Amino acid sequence: MAQKTSCDIGPVVLLGPPGAGKGTQSKRIMEHYLIPQVSTGDILRYNVAQGTELGMAAKAVMARGELVSDDLVCEMVKKRLCNPDCRRGYILDGFPRTAAQAGWLDALLDDKLFDNSRPTRAWPIVMRLDVDYNQLLLRITGRRSCPTCGRIYNVHFQPPRVEGICDLEGSRLVTRNDDRREVIQPRLAAYEEQTRPVADYYQRTGRLVSVDGDRPADEVTAQIFRILEDHHA
Ligand code: AMP
Repeated sequence: MAQKTSCDIGPVVLLGPPGAGKGTQSKRIMEHYLIPQVSTGDILRYNVAQGTELGMAAKAVMARGELVSDDLVCEMVKKRLCNPDCRRGYILDGFPRTAAQAGWLDALLDDKLFDNSRPTRAWPIVMRLDVDYNQLLLRITGRRSCPTCGRIYNVHFQPPRVEGICDLEGSRLVTRNDDRREVIQPRLAAYEEQTRPVADYYQRTGRLVSVDGDRPADEVTAQIFRILEDHHA
C-alpha cells in the first residue's frame, strides 16, 4: 500500500488491554501515515530509565502494574501534543486510560490551542482492539522487545530469526519489567476497572470503533487502515 501524507488522517486514539497489540499497530500506522506515535507507557519508561523526577514518581507504581496518577500523565501528554510534529495528527497509544483522562483530553482538544476548523480536525478517531483473554496472556508472556530499536517480537507468534536476538539490530531482546507474571494480573485488573469505562464513554458519545484484535497482526492492520480511510473519505 502506498504511503499517505500525515495530513490525511488526523489524530487517532488506540484503546485496548495490555497485550492487545496497541504498540505494534501504532508503529504501523505511524510508518504508513507518517504521524508520530505518542505512547504514554514508552514516555514513562524512558523517564524511569533516565531517572527524571517524573520517572522516579512513576517507577514503583509501574512496577506494581498500577496506573500513574492522572495529573502526572496528563501534564506529560499535553507537553507532547504541543510539539510541532503532532500538528497534523498523532496516535495516542495507552492514553486515555481513565474516565478523568478522557474528559481532560476532550477539554484540551476543545481549546484554541488545537485548531478544530481545519479539514484535519483535532478530534481523534477512537479505535478499541478487542482480544480474547487467553490470547492476551500469551501475547504478554511472550512479548520481547529490542532495547535499541523498540521493535516488538513474540516468542509464540512472531519470534526473531535467532532466539533472543533482534533481527535488525542484533541486540539481545528484553522482557518488560511489567510483563512479569506477577504483574500481569494487576495490569489487566486496572484495565477492567479503570479503562473499560473510557471505551464506554466514547461509545456513549458515538465515537468508538471496535477492531477485531484476535486476527493475525497484518489483518488487524488492514482493518485499521480501512477504518481510517473510510473515516476520512
Ligand atoms: P503500557 O506500555 O501502555 O502498557 O504502560 C505501561 C505502564 O505505564 C502502565 O501499566 C501504567 O503503570 C503506566 N501508564 C501508561 N499509560 C498510562 C496512563 N495513560 N495513565 C496512567 N498510567 C499509565
